[in-house]
Amino acid sequence: MSALSRLLRSLLWPGWRSCSSKPAQNVHLSKPGHGFSFELTDEQKEFQATARKFALEEIIPVAAQYDRTGEYPVPLIKRAWELGLMNSHIPESCGGLGLGTFEACLITEELAYGCTGVQTAIEANSLGQMPVIIAGNEQQQKKYLGRMTEEPLMCAYCVTEPGAGSDVAGIRTRAERKGDEYVINGQKMWITNGGKANWYFLLARTDPDPRAPASKAFTGFIVEADSPGIQVGRKELNMGQRCSDTRGIVFEDVRVPKENVLIAEGAGFKIAMGAFDKTRPPVAAGAVGLARRALDEATRYALERKTFGKPIVEHQAVAFLLAEMAMKVELARLGYQRAAWEVDAGRRNTFYASIAKAFAGDVANQVATDAVQIFGGNGFNTEYPVEKLMRDAKIYQIYEGTAQIQRVIIAREHLGRYKD
Ligand SMILES: Cc1cc2nc3c(=O)[nH]c(=O)nc-3n(C[C@H](O)[C@H](O)[C@H](O)COP(=O)(O)OP(=O)(O)OC[C@H]3O[C@@H](n4cnc5c(N)ncnc54)[C@H](O)[C@@H]3O)c2cc1C
Repeated sequence: MSALSRLLRSLLWPGWRSCSSKPAQNVHLSKPGHGFSFELTDEQKEFQATARKFALEEIIPVAAQYDRTGEYPVPLIKRAWELGLMNSHIPESCGGLGLGTFEACLITEELAYGCTGVQTAIEANSLGQMPVIIAGNEQQQKKYLGRMTEEPLMCAYCVTEPGAGSDVAGIRTRAERKGDEYVINGQKMWITNGGKANWYFLLARTDPDPRAPASKAFTGFIVEADSPGIQVGRKELNMGQRCSDTRGIVFEDVRVPKENVLIAEGAGFKIAMGAFDKTRPPVAAGAVGLARRALDEATRYALERKTFGKPIVEHQAVAFLLAEMAMKVELARLGYQRAAWEVDAGRRNTFYASIAKAFAGDVANQVATDAVQIFGGNGFNTEYPVEKLMRDAKIYQIYEGTAQIQRVIIAREHLGRYKD
């Protein structure tokens, strides 16, 4: 963590300490259990205001340029790191802020308002770290999370493969124990930050028996990105969020020390899936940030654009479209706040996390499409901001579990309540 970052944090949040002897824990600024309230704490308002200012003043002016070039937004990531807007989940014991998922969501919504390509690059760091946060031992946390608080490094979550995305148990990457090491062979696909990561969380099959249950067949590893045998593929040219770095990665006889196994052999599937309870609420918050931006852009345009002698906002069809968009943004925000609050309160939030992610992903797409509609022909053109929003929105229905997989989870969790 830079000196500037330490200084900013100590000025903004006097209670903040860079290193602590306390065990890793969330600060729970939202204080679950203190009664129902929509009021943010002063600290939460500070985080939100810092992220909002950064998005308005530093991300938005360069977002279209990054979208055009597909260049990785290194200066923005460095700046976000300096401002304490990255890695917010890292425990205090490792030099981080140890914030809750609720605070991470507030920050994420603001960053996404600026540009979801930038936000996804930052969020993928949290996804890569989350298995280490929930399952890493003290040594692993200090080594791999600690270094991310010393300098703006990236990491990545390597689970998906060319042949298996939704069906995680279908992954074929193998890890074989050889003495004090594991030897990893396989291919991963669609890895965000794949070409920028300092280390990877990797899920591999350790039990070759195809009848072994998923809960025992897979192991989670921390893999140094410069390990011999790793070949990082070309940057994929995606529909949206183009400055985010998505790649395939080949692992060929990559040797990983046994110390880099998370928990134990066979525990990987639960760790990989468990991370989503804490990362799906921020993904939903990202989708809300995009939808809010689309609503703002569409409203401003509708107030200015005139047809038939009056601003289009005075045509009831347009005003009602804006009303529908506003309803969706507000409700999607409540969804991620509930999901985040639940997990920060220490409760199993799988049901709420999937509802938040599925709903916000759909809302982002509906609202961005409606914003393009309100812009008319201009909405279809790259000179105006909403076509980028529409392209950027689509991925929220695909990554971190598709819209369909979220519904599979919601139905399972819902029906499970009727079976007891
Ligand atoms: C830009 C981008 C970034 C990504 N970043 C990462 C990353 O950092 N790390 C990582 O590990 N992965 C990442 N992914 C992968 C992403 O999580 C997967 O693409 C996603 O889970 C879907 O898997 P798939 O592409 O194999 O589609 P498939 O699983 O083949 O699904 C195809 C279609 O079938 C539907 N479907 C599948 N199974 C069911 C079912 N049981 N019921 C109903 N419908 C079903 C799906 O919803 C989808 O519509 C990323 C993907 C993209 C595009």
